[in-house]
Amino acid sequence: MLRQFHENTEHFLDELLRMEASAEHGKLCSCSRDVVATVRCLECHPDRLQCAECALKSHASLPLHRTEHWQDNQFVVAPLIDFGLMYHLSHDGARCPSWKDGDKNPDGHVIQVAHVNGFHAVRIGFCRCPSAPSHATQLLRARMFPGTLSKPRTAYTISLLVTFHTLTRESNLNTYDYAKALARFTDQYLPYDIKTRYDNFRIVVRFWRDLQMKLRSGQPLGLLAELPPVHQDSIALLCPACPQPGINYYPEKAGSGEAGERSHSGSEQGSSEDAASTLDGAPSSDELVSEAGSDEGAEASPAEETSGADAAAGVDETPRSDELVSEAGSDGEAEASSAEPASGTNTKIHRITLYLSMDANFRAQQKDKTNDPADFHLHPGAAYFREDSAFREYLAAVAACDRRRHAADSRL
Ligand SMILES: [Zn+2]
Ligand SMILES: [Zn+2]
Ligand SMILES: [Zn+2]
Repeated sequence: MLRQFHENTEHFLDELLRMEASAEHGKLCSCSRDVVATVRCLECHPDRLQCAECALKSHASLPLHRTEHWQDNQFVVAPLIDFGLMYHLSHDGARCPSWKDGDKNPDGHVIQVAHVNGFHAVRIGFCRCPSAPSHATQLLRARMFPGTLSKPRTAYTISLLVTFHTLTRESNLNTYDYAKALARFTDQYLPYDIKTRYDNFRIVVRFWRDLQMKLRSGQPLGLLAELPPVHQDSIALLCPACPQPGINYYPEKAGSGEAGERSHSGSEQGSSEDAASTLDGAPSSDELVSEAGSDEGAEASPAEETSGADAAAGVDETPRSDELVSEAGSDGEAEASSAEPASGTNTKIHRITLYLSMDANFRAQQKDKTNDPADFHLHPGAAYFREDSAFREYLAAVAACDRRRHAADSRL
């Protein structure tokens, strides 16, 4: 494959250089205006030229496309705002009928919009009807996140925020480097002349992440109220594979048979061996595994290969509710504890182990920083750290307890 490409290097170089010019230059636009076509859009028709009027018309609702103008035998960057484009946010893209002569800002508001292909100066025509929402809300409804709530002069497209959020999770891209890349997209030669408004971008990104956590948790829809009380204030992601008491594992119903009914199809397709394993109505360890894991996980589980003798023995191996192990240590500790069961106890206890652990490396970014006195936590106590005042009270109580113990020890 690479050799094939290499053998055609000259052809590819020719084609890339061909993109820098246009075979159509000098031709009239296909419209009836009898004018030379000189504008191309790099997003929607990079190999076709239009006149300025046609380019404006075709981009009335596409203000974030990159356009170039043919002049002096070369293409030069020519943003749509230079051709007079105004992007109207309501009334189906038409100018708001409430605009009057003599209004402030008769030419709309010029806003810097950051998009996945760089920064754009966009002339925005806001709706001025009496019932119109604020400018920030109008931008948001046009899928542009406002840089500020009051008189926004900067906005970030939702596409940009989703793209950056994905990039930062998958490739650890940081905000500063992404802002620099956007400046480079905007101007390949003088990116440092572009105002990236990095501080504003950083704040918007942080708030966006907080919004995504809350949306993902189901909190805005009231779904947390459906969870057991211990989880109702938490927007942290629960491990779907771990047995969470009251969510996918019901230790109090282990003896009533209801827990078995709650297990999904992974156990419904069970054999007679499975039935034998639930003779006493309690869920077998196999069922617990299929409840907590994915279908694939259940199918791949060694439980599928259980022999009749093993399944019959499962009656005795059925885990009790008090066998639900909560491990606060590392994986290594948890594995060590499950790998050495006490003699005569369930040897499959590792299948219903709930891991409660903290990975400082990946969650430390959530901890509030002390180097900015104006900074504050966006969801105190709702994710991976305790609420600060409650935690300080706990530390004070522990310290007082320690002092009393030391005083008692010193009297002995
Ligand atoms: Zn276009
Ligand atoms: Zn035309
Ligand atoms: Zn209006």
